[in-house]
Amino acid sequence: MYRTHNCGELRLQQAGQEVTLSGWVQRTRDKGFMLWIDLRDRYGVTQLIFSEEKSTPELMAQARTLGREFVVMVKGVVIERVAKNDKMPTGDIELEVRELTVLNAAKLPPFTIEDDTDGGDDLRMKYRYLDLRRSPVQRNIIFRSNLALETRKYLSGEGFIEVETPFLIKSTPEGARDFVVPSRMNPGQFYALPQSPQTFKQILMVAGLDKYFQIVKCFRDEDLRADRQPEFTQIDCEMAFVTQEEILNTFEGLTRHLFKTTLGIDLPTFPRMNYDEAMRRFGSDKPDLRFGMEFVELNDVAQGKGFQVFDGAELVAGICAEGQAEMTRKQIDELTEWVKRPQIGAKGLVYVKCAADGTYKSSVDKFFGEADLKAWADKMGAKPGDMLFVLSGEAEKTRKQLSELRLELGRRLGLMKPGEFKPLWVVDFPLLEWDEETQRFYAMHHPFTSPKRADVAKMLSGDHATLKGLRADAYDLVLNGVEIGGGSIRIHDRGLQAKNFQLLGFTPEEAERQFGFLMGAFEFGAPPHGGIAFGFDRLCSVMNGQNSIRDFIAFPKNNMGRDMMIDAPSEIAEAQLGELQIRLDLKD
Ligand code: ASP
Repeated sequence: MYRTHNCGELRLQQAGQEVTLSGWVQRTRDKGFMLWIDLRDRYGVTQLIFSEEKSTPELMAQARTLGREFVVMVKGVVIERVAKNDKMPTGDIELEVRELTVLNAAKLPPFTIEDDTDGGDDLRMKYRYLDLRRSPVQRNIIFRSNLALETRKYLSGEGFIEVETPFLIKSTPEGARDFVVPSRMNPGQFYALPQSPQTFKQILMVAGLDKYFQIVKCFRDEDLRADRQPEFTQIDCEMAFVTQEEILNTFEGLTRHLFKTTLGIDLPTFPRMNYDEAMRRFGSDKPDLRFGMEFVELNDVAQGKGFQVFDGAELVAGICAEGQAEMTRKQIDELTEWVKRPQIGAKGLVYVKCAADGTYKSSVDKFFGEADLKAWADKMGAKPGDMLFVLSGEAEKTRKQLSELRLELGRRLGLMKPGEFKPLWVVDFPLLEWDEETQRFYAMHHPFTSPKRADVAKMLSGDHATLKGLRADAYDLVLNGVEIGGGSIRIHDRGLQAKNFQLLGFTPEEAERQFGFLMGAFEFGAPPHGGIAFGFDRLCSVMNGQNSIRDFIAFPKNNMGRDMMIDAPSEIAEAQLGELQIRLDLKD
């Protein structure tokens, strides 16, 4: 038997008992006459003690041969510690070792395997099995496991059934490139890995399965960022005979259940905000509601005073940073440089200091007197001691820039508190998005999303301007400025689906070739249906106040989409290419 207990469970109440533990040597402290070892496993760390007084010279010598990460089994007696450690759950006791067995030796690890490590990202990815031994990383993986379990409990409780859909399929467009897999038995043909199970879950509704869910891998060939991986996991759901309202309620219920059971947090009812309002008030379809700084439009009080920059602008809008009037010149200059970076693209930044003594000072004093500035401040609800920041230009761009500035101020001023959670539903997204560059419409959500019932007629007959204004029954769940999930009510009628493909630039033949199976299914009694998918990795990271989803994925890929541990992707043998009848002709 390798162990009677694990390394995290012994307490004073076991003092005097003989026990067996197995684990990894985390650290050794050798004082000559006494030697301590921290023994670690998934459950915690227990201190082992060897002493000249109690141990044989052979045992002391044997203990001295142990290096970091050796795997050992020890038998001994639990004793009360003289110097207790209240930072460790096992800190009241230690194990006086009587017998030591080395189960496996270990090479010196390339980084320290403790809560704080000295290992850089690449090294930790290459030796992921060592990184995964660290307790913060294990905690994340265990959190993920619990979250999946609670998801299954809740959704099964609501009558959902879990159905697996295939990975070797053909393209399901979610706006990214497909990963493709060549078919040996069908030379020259390729499967695509699913960007989501979208079409299959809709087919399951046509099949009458009614309430479907799946915790499922999706694959998207996109440029990577901290919160993106080429393969990631969704909680994917679909329901038939359902309204948007019922979907929102079900998945608000799921979110609340997950927060309660895994974090012990009771979330309040989620507010709803429509897309237009979110854009107007926050310049973003995923506003972070942990802090205010809502946009205030200043056109009526800021234009017509001779300041060309404002006069020629479609929108003049500002935000108020509470209590920040004392910001230094240097800080303001830094912010100005920040908004002028090409990633943000503002031409400049106008500020107004609302001094504590009731006077105003701005970067545009030449054009605006105290009374003007006071009018801005009043409109923005600013008090003495506040600081205003104003941007102007073309409306859509200015809103985006101001949104970035708002978030940056939120970060710099510490307003995004990690333990605070502000969820909301953003609803009524536009159906279509016009792209100037390619002069065509894209689906804002995906091509299967239904226009609102009231907009169906307009969609079938509308001109360009009408089409731009079409609204969809599409919604996102946003948490602390992160899109956690999104979904929609779907089209379930062949004609409307065909029309949507046409608006998205598909020829009837292309639409038929790619999605004929779905439109065909719609002709055999498709019920009204809709659904949603949550980004599971993202949900894990946001619930833990972290930015990177990598820390919640056991074997993540790096920014180049590489798995550093197994060294993938990699070349394949000539013979394998031959079987696939693929000849490589790589440029460079
Ligand atoms: N398939 C969608 C997505 O992956 C979610 C949905 O519409 O249910 O974003």
